[in-house]
Amino acid sequence: MILFALCGIIFLSVVFWKGAVKNMKETKKQKKKGLIGRFVPYFKKYKWILFFDLFCAALTTVCELVLPMLVRFVTNAGINDLASLTLEIILKIGVLYLFLRLVDAAANFFMASIGHIMGTKIETDMRSDLFRHLQKLSFTYFDNTKIGQIMSRITSDLFDVTEFAHHCPEEIFISAIKIVGSFTILCGVNVWLTLIVFSVVPFMLLVAAFFNLKMREQFRRQRVQIGEINAQVEDSLLGVRVVKSFANEDLETEKFERGNETFFDIKKKSYLYMGGFDASNRMFDGLMNILVLVVGAVFMINGQIQPADLVAYMMYVGTLISSVRQLVQFAEQFQRGMTGIERFFQVMDADVDIFDEPDARELKVNRGDINFENVGFSYSDDGKQVLSEINLSVKAGENVALVGPSGGGKTTLCNLIPRFYDVTEGRILIDGQDIRNVTLNSLRSQIGFVQQDVYLFSGTVFQNIEYGRPGASREEVVEAAKQAGAHEFIMGLLNGYDTYVGERGVKLSGGQKQRISIARAFLKNPPIMILDEATSALDNESEKIVQASLEKLSKGRTTFTIAHRLTTIKNATVILVLTHRGIEEKGTHQELMAKKGIYYHLYNSYADDRVVDNA
Ligand code: ADP
Ligand code: MG
Repeated sequence: MILFALCGIIFLSVVFWKGAVKNMKETKKQKKKGLIGRFVPYFKKYKWILFFDLFCAALTTVCELVLPMLVRFVTNAGINDLASLTLEIILKIGVLYLFLRLVDAAANFFMASIGHIMGTKIETDMRSDLFRHLQKLSFTYFDNTKIGQIMSRITSDLFDVTEFAHHCPEEIFISAIKIVGSFTILCGVNVWLTLIVFSVVPFMLLVAAFFNLKMREQFRRQRVQIGEINAQVEDSLLGVRVVKSFANEDLETEKFERGNETFFDIKKKSYLYMGGFDASNRMFDGLMNILVLVVGAVFMINGQIQPADLVAYMMYVGTLISSVRQLVQFAEQFQRGMTGIERFFQVMDADVDIFDEPDARELKVNRGDINFENVGFSYSDDGKQVLSEINLSVKAGENVALVGPSGGGKTTLCNLIPRFYDVTEGRILIDGQDIRNVTLNSLRSQIGFVQQDVYLFSGTVFQNIEYGRPGASREEVVEAAKQAGAHEFIMGLLNGYDTYVGERGVKLSGGQKQRISIARAFLKNPPIMILDEATSALDNESEKIVQASLEKLSKGRTTFTIAHRLTTIKNATVILVLTHRGIEEKGTHQELMAKKGIYYHLYNSYADDRVVDNA
C-alpha cells in the first residue's frame, strides 16, 4: 500500500518536473513568468543530484513510516495471540528495522551533504550570472542605482538560496509523501477519525497563509533596508576623507543609526509575525492531538477501534501532524528564499540597453575619421536635451579641443563615442561605420580615455598599468610608463613597479595617478584618444609634466581634448565652443581670437585670472 503510494508520488513528481522544464523552454522569451518558473532552470545542471536527493528523501520517509506498522504488529500480536510472537520473528523485525535505519542514515548523509552542496552550487551559479549581467549593464543603470544595494543583492540576498534550492523540492516532496502515506494508512485504520482530525488542516493552512504573506513583506523590506545600510556605509567610508575634513563623524553616525534603527524595526516586526505564525501552528497541532485523544477514546469505548490500532493511529497522527507542521513552517524559509530570488531577478531584468546588434561586425579603423551627424542626446526620456544637432567631421590624426562653460555637454559628447551612452538622435561614424553596428568590444578597444578622476584598482603599479592591455610583458609596461613620464617616480617608490597603490590609488599623488593612467593609455595604444580635463585636478608642476605626456600620447591619433586651461589647446587642429545651445564657435585659435566671440572672452578672462594668480 505504502509502496504503491510512494511509486505514485515519485512518478507524479517526475512528470511535474519534466513538464516544468518543458514549459520553461517554451516560454523562455517571456520575461513575465513566475519566480519559481524562472528559478527552476538553475536545477537543470543538477537534475540527477536532485533526483537522487528526492529518492533519498523517499527512503528516509519509508523508514519512518515503517516503525508504527511494526509497533502495531507487535502490540496486536501481544494482545490477541501472544504465542505467535516467537523470538525468531522478533529478531527478524529487529534486523529489518536495523537495516532500514542504516539505509536511513546513508540517505540522510547524502541529503545533508550533497544536497546542500547542490544548493550552494546553484547559489554560486546565480551569483555568477548576476555579476556577468552587471558587467553588461550600461552607465545609465549605474547612474541610477546605489552600489550598496547591488552589493547586498549579489552577496547576502543569495545566502538563503542554498537552503531554498535544496530544501524546497525536498521538504515539499517528503511532506507530500508523509501526508499522503500516513493519510492513506490512517484511513485504512479508521476513516471517520481521520476525517475529523483532518478537518483542522484547512484552517491551519489559512492562518499560515496569512502570516506568510505578512512575513514575506517584512523579509522584502528587510533586504531593501540591508541594501540601504550597505549603501550608506559605502558612501561614508568612501567619503571618509571628506567626512573627517568637515569633522562630520557624528552626522554620519547619526545617519547610520537611523538606518540601523529602521532595520531593527523591520526585523522586530517580522519576528512578531514569526511568533504569531509559530504559536498558531502549535495551537493547531495541539488541537489535532486533542481530537485524536478525545475522539479516539470515544471511538474505542464504542468499539469502533481496537486499542492496538489506536496506538498505531497515535503514532501515525504524530507523523502526519509533524509533516503538516514542517510543510507549513517551511513556508517561512520559502519566503526568505523567494525574496532573495525576487531581488536577484530584479537586477537580471534590468535592461542591457547598450549591446551588440545581432549582425554587429568588428570595427575596422584604418584612419580614425570620426563624423557626428545631427547628433542629439538626453540622459533620460523626460530629461532635458543636453546635445542637439551636433554636426562634426574630424579627420584622422586631428586634435579637436572642446571648450565651453561647465555643464555645456563636453563630457557627454565624448561619452557618446565609446557608446557609454547611445545617441538619441542622429549617428556617429568612425571611418564610415555607424558605431551602433559594430561590436562594443572592437569599438572600445580602439578608444583610449584619460579622465580627470583616475580610478586605480587596489593592486600594484604594474597591475594598474597592465590593465590597459592585459597580458602585456614587463618590458612593454615599463616602456609605456617611460613614454608617460612615469618611470622615474615609479622607480622612486618603495617597491618600484610592485608597489601597492592602495584602494583607488590613495597612496599616490594626483599627478602620479594621472601619469599611471596615461601609461595605461600608451600601453593600450588606441588610434582614438579622449582626454577629459586630464590635468585639471593637478597643481602647476604636475600639470606641466602630465601635459607633456599627453601631447606625446595624442601624436598621430585622432584626439578629443577637453581642457579647462585654454593655453594648453592653442595648437589644436580645431577648437569647438560647446554651450547648451550647441556648437557655437568652431575654428583654430587664431580664427576664434579674431572673431572676438565667446572663445575670445573665455580666453581673455582666463588670461586675466593668470595675471591675478601670478600677482
Ligand atoms: P561638461 O562636461 O561640459 O561640464 P557634462 O557633459 O558633464 O558637461 O554635463 C552636461 C549636462 O548633462 C549637465 O547639465 C549635467 O547636469 C547633465 N548630466 C551629466 N551627466 C549626467 C548623468 N549621468 N545623468 C543625467 N544628467 C547628466
Ligand atoms: Mg566634463
